[in-house]
Amino acid sequence: MITLNKHYANLEESYLFYHIAQKIDAYVQAHPNAHLYRMGIGDVSLPLCDAVIEALHKAVDDQANKDTFQGYLPECGAPFLRETIATHYAQRGVTVSPDEVFVSSGASDELGDILDLFDRQSAALVIEPAYPAYVDASVMAGRRVVHLASGKENGFLPMPDENIDADLLYICSPNNPTGAVFSRNQLQSWIDFANERGSIILFDAAYEAFIEDDALPHSIFELPGAETCAIEICSLSKTAGFTGTRLGYTVIPKALTRNNMSLNDMWVRNRTTKTNGVSYIIQRGAAAVFTPQEQQQIRKNIQLYKSNARLLTDALDQLGFWYCGGKNAPYIWMECPAHMDSWSFFDYVLQEIQVVGTPGAGFGPSGEGYFRLSAFNSPEETREAARRLVELLSHLS
Ligand code: PLP
Repeated sequence: MITLNKHYANLEESYLFYHIAQKIDAYVQAHPNAHLYRMGIGDVSLPLCDAVIEALHKAVDDQANKDTFQGYLPECGAPFLRETIATHYAQRGVTVSPDEVFVSSGASDELGDILDLFDRQSAALVIEPAYPAYVDASVMAGRRVVHLASGKENGFLPMPDENIDADLLYICSPNNPTGAVFSRNQLQSWIDFANERGSIILFDAAYEAFIEDDALPHSIFELPGAETCAIEICSLSKTAGFTGTRLGYTVIPKALTRNNMSLNDMWVRNRTTKTNGVSYIIQRGAAAVFTPQEQQQIRKNIQLYKSNARLLTDALDQLGFWYCGGKNAPYIWMECPAHMDSWSFFDYVLQEIQVVGTPGAGFGPSGEGYFRLSAFNSPEETREAARRLVELLSHLS
């Protein structure tokens, strides 16, 4: 009989979103007329911008015409998109060549697939609380996971220390769920640490477009030494509303080598074996994201989400509650008041004011006692949720 991948048995049940959905269902059944203020959503709510829609339509028409029809494209990405992305980096002062850019169907796919490049013996460091995919993808591959707890004392931005026994380092900045962003100096410490140890950083930049402080790095490659220790995984999901359209890109520098092997060459080999690339239509839509007109439109959309975040952080400031995030990220990570645990606070705000957030404990043990609010709902819903939070929680501040 076939032997299955036994590591799946080591996965912890993913209760978080299932459990939230169950609690919401129970509440709605008991209160059929209630309106819920959903501040837990990790998906965008604004539609794709005009330039993208136009490019998608045009690409569909291309496929209807014998002269413009496209069959298989190069597996690592269409040259027009790889060049466009490389130019986008250049505009930020980062030198990346088109063949260091790999087009993907999204960051989630890449975060798991990229593990193919590393020996299973190399353990993965996950900074907690964390986006659940890092742990689960590593466990599925039979990889040991080293958890590095973070907390209020370091603003959920822990620094490397010599006791860390892992060679693959997941770093997510701006962070989901905490919204915290590593400064240049902090990120430089991780780069120096990785280079000294021969480790590799998997840098998840899915939320880089939300950074507004000029001093904060959007890309790890803005910093010296990253090209010899980092892979950057990016996504248009939150940047440009591509959660349902699906497109991401991964940058693997040619300078990134270990044991005389080039990770860029290895990934070319991997992609040309395991995928036939991303659809022509979607890649055309994605290229439109990088036009000046679209970049302006994207910034407007992100500003709208950011103004939602401000409504929530203003409410928390008024209440005097501790939080991080919100300024350079779409997530606000608040400490639950009155020493409530994450799930008790979830129940309390659901029952009392019909506000739904995400219990921090669902992102790992160091998330206990915290709660994630998201800025992706509409301004109207967010304003009312913020008002309700202030009204309910004033007596606890
Ligand atoms: N990385 C982080 C930190 C995320 O929060 C998400 C999605 O929520 C992703 C990656 C996945 O992005 P994509 O939609 O490109 O798969």
